[in-house]
Amino acid sequence: FLTHLKASMEDVQQTYIMIKPDGVQRGLVGEIISRFEHKGFTLKGLKLFQCPTELAEEHYRDLKSKSFFPKLVKYITSGPVVCMAWEGPGIVAAARKLIGATNPLQAEPGTIRGDLAIQVGRNVVHGSDSQENGQREVALWFKDGELCEWTQEITPWLRE
Ligand code: UDP
Ligand code: MG
Repeated sequence: FLTHLKASMEDVQQTYIMIKPDGVQRGLVGEIISRFEHKGFTLKGLKLFQCPTELAEEHYRDLKSKSFFPKLVKYITSGPVVCMAWEGPGIVAAARKLIGATNPLQAEPGTIRGDLAIQVGRNVVHGSDSQENGQREVALWFKDGELCEWTQEITPWLRE
């Protein structure tokens, strides 16, 4: 009960983070995962996955009317991606900050895109933009049983 109460007080959320095909091809998987690990978030799900076209279209359904949509779907399905579910207090907004602006040339140094990318069409990583989309995307990319319920023993050293 106390654990539950503490969790709700700390606003624990889940977010969907994905290393896009360029990040995988460029050997940035370890680097990108490290950013989230070092920050202190908890990894709940992880897989290397070749995304089918229909799933890419569903994931980016809100962008369907955009001129770049066909290119975006082609990009996301052009090679394996790394799918991740991460959990932590305030993680949805915090992950977006770690990732940086959509256009890597506008992303601040110190962010993933600011440090590792130069073009919007090759911006190496995805992060959910709201708590609602975090839940939707984790459920979209992971099947039942693919997420791990576990206790991260260092949590008391990260959250008082
Ligand atoms: N994108 C693009 N051209 C644009 C805008 C977006 O190719 O002008 C791609 C880019 O890969 C981006 C993705 O579409 O990450 C989703 O766009 P969104 O606006 O949701 O940006 P994000 O949430 O990824 O920062
Ligand atoms: Mg987005």
